Amino acid sequence: MLKNDDLYKMRISAHYRGATTCDHCGTSIKNIVEVRGNGKTGNIGQQCAEKLGFDKYQIRQKLTHDQMKQRKAERKEREDAKDAKLERERVAIDDELSKRMASPVGEIVLQLEKVTFNCDQYLCRDDYGRELFLENDFRYSLAKQLRIRPLSARQADFVSKFVAGGQSQRRNKANSDEWDRIWEVCVSDDYNGITYNFLNSIK
Ligand SMILES: [Zn+2]
Repeated sequence: MLKNDDLYKMRISAHYRGATTCDHCGTSIKNIVEVRGNGKTGNIGQQCAEKLGFDKYQIRQKLTHDQMKQRKAERKEREDAKDAKLERERVAIDDELSKRMASPVGEIVLQLEKVTFNCDQYLCRDDYGRELFLENDFRYSLAKQLRIRPLSARQADFVSKFVAGGQSQRRNKANSDEWDRIWEVCVSDDYNGITYNFLNSIK
C-alpha cells in the first residue's frame, strides 16, 4: 500500500484502462493511474489521484505507458528543435552585429563609448568602491542603439556633437567634415542596415 507521504513524492507515469485494486485505498479500480517516484511504483484509482492533487490534465489523459514514453520523446524532440532554432538565431544575430561593427558604424560606436566613459561626471561608485557607469547615460544609450540600427536625424546630431564636436561641442570649419561624415554614417541604412530589419524579422 502507498501512503500519502509516498504519493506526494510520486508522479504519474501512465493512465490506462484495466482492472486492479488501488494501492492507496484498496478498492477495485478500472481507471488505473500508474505512479512512480522515490524508488517506488504503484497503481491508484483516478478518484484517489484527483484527491491527492495529481496533475488533472495528466489524470484525464488515458494513455498507455508506451504512448506516454513516445509523447515524452516527442516533447524532448520539439524542445531540442526549439533550442537549436534559438541557437541558430543567436549566432545569426552575433554575425549581423559584428558585420555592422566592422563597418564605419563600429568606429563611431567605440568613439562614443570612449567619450562617455572618459567623462568623470558620469562615473559613480558602488558599495565596493568599484566605478560604475550610469546605464541611463544619454551617450551610452545612443551608442547602444547605434550598435544595432541607424539613428534618427536628431540622434545623429548628438553623436556628431559628442564625437566630433570636441570641447565646444559645436560644428566649425575644423571639424565640419568629420561632423558631417559621422552624421551620415549614423543615419545610413547602408552599413548592414539589414541588421535592423533582420532583428525585427526574427522577433
Ligand atoms: Zn484509491
